[in-house]
Amino acid sequence: MKLDVNALRYLSRDESRTLQAVEIGQKNHDIVPVPLVDSIAGLKHGGVVRCLKALLRQKLVHHDNTRYDGYRLTPLGYDFLALRALVARGAITAVGRQIGVGKESDVFEVLNAEGEVLAMKLHRLGRTSFRAVKKKRDYLQHRNSFSWLWLSRLAAAKEFAFMEALGVAGFPVPHAIEHNRHAVLMSLVDAVPLVQVRLADPGAVYLQLMDMIADLAARGLVHCDFNEFNILVDEQGAVTLIDFPQMVSTSHANAEELFERDVDCIVRFFTKKLGYVPEQDTSLPYMRPDFKAATASASEKLDVQLSASGFKKEHLSALDSYVSALQGMVAPRDGSSSGEEEESDSDSEPEGCDSSDEAGSSGGEGDESEKGEVP
Ligand code: ADP
Ligand code: MG
Repeated sequence: MKLDVNALRYLSRDESRTLQAVEIGQKNHDIVPVPLVDSIAGLKHGGVVRCLKALLRQKLVHHDNTRYDGYRLTPLGYDFLALRALVARGAITAVGRQIGVGKESDVFEVLNAEGEVLAMKLHRLGRTSFRAVKKKRDYLQHRNSFSWLWLSRLAAAKEFAFMEALGVAGFPVPHAIEHNRHAVLMSLVDAVPLVQVRLADPGAVYLQLMDMIADLAARGLVHCDFNEFNILVDEQGAVTLIDFPQMVSTSHANAEELFERDVDCIVRFFTKKLGYVPEQDTSLPYMRPDFKAATASASEKLDVQLSASGFKKEHLSALDSYVSALQGMVAPRDGSSSGEEEESDSDSEPEGCDSSDEAGSSGGEGDESEKGEVP
C-alpha cells in the first residue's frame, strides 16, 4: 500500500479537524452522518461538506449515501491520523520505503528527528483470510466494518506491550519506541528473515531458536507464530524475534498445542528447507516446559506482568478470537476469552510452515480515537 505522506502537508487545519471528526463519529457509526461530522468538527466558519470533499479526493474518507449521506475513514485516512500524531509528538519526521508486507501489516522505514532510521509497522487486521473472519463478526462485538481498524489498534497496543516487556526481559526483539492507533514504532533490525538467509551454521541458529522458545515458555509466553518469516538473522547469525500480536500465556488453554506447533515449525523448516536434521529426540524433552506447573516465580512471569498492565480483558478476548479464527483453532473456554467461541471453519493457516502469504483487500475503518492529541 502506498503511503503518501505529502498529504500530511497539504491538509488544512479544517480538513484535519474534519478527518478527526469522522474518526470520532465512527465510534458509534459505521458511516458517520454528515451533520454529526459537522457537529463534532465544530468548524468556526462552517464548510464541513467542502472539507469532506477534499478528504474524499485524497482518498482519506469513503463516501456512502446508500442509507443516508455519510462518510467513513479509509485505511489510508487512518494511516494519516496515526502518522500525524507520531509527527506531532516528534517521534518521526519522514516515511521512507516499505520494507515489509506481512500477512497482517505493512512495515515502513521512517526517520526520527535525530536522523535515525526506524521501523514503523501499520497493523492491518482483516487483510487476509477475509472470508474466515467475516464469518466471525460476532467476535467483533457487533461492530461491523469499523472493527477492522479497532482490531488493528488492539493488535498494535498488544504488540507494543509485549515487545517492550520482552526487551526488558532480555529477549532479542526490536526496541519498542512508541505506538499510536494501529502504528507501532520500533528500532530497525539490520537483518533479514530466516526464510531468505543462507546459513553458514544452521545448527547454531537452530539451537538459539530452540533455547528462545524454551526461555519464552519459562517466562510464561508462547509466541504462536514462531517461524522463518518472524525470525530475523543478521550477518553474524544472531537472531531477532518479531511479530507479537498473537502471543499467548502458557496458562492459555491451548498453550501446549501452540508451543508444539512453534517447535514443529522450526523443526520442519530446518529439516525440509535447510536439510539440517536436528536431534529432536534429545532436544525436545529438555526444552519442553511443564505447562501445568509454574516454572518461574510470579514476578518473573511476563504473562502475569502483561495481564496486569492494563489491557481491557474484553479487548484482548476480541483480538484472541480473531487470531483463533485465523489460525483455525477453537478459542479456549477458560474464562479468559469472550465466551463467544465456536468451532472455527477458517480457511487459513499460520504464516510459516509452508503456507504461503496471501494478500487481499484491506477492509474496515474507524476506531475509538485518542481524542486528546489532535488540535
Ligand atoms: P506481519 O504480522 O504482517 O507478519 P511482521 O512484524 O512479521 O508483520 O513484519 C513483516 C516484515 O517486515 C518482516 O518479515 C520483516 O521483513 C519486516 N520487519 C518487521 N519489523 C522489522 C524491524 N523491526 N526491522 C526490520 N525489518 C522488520
Ligand atoms: Mg510476520
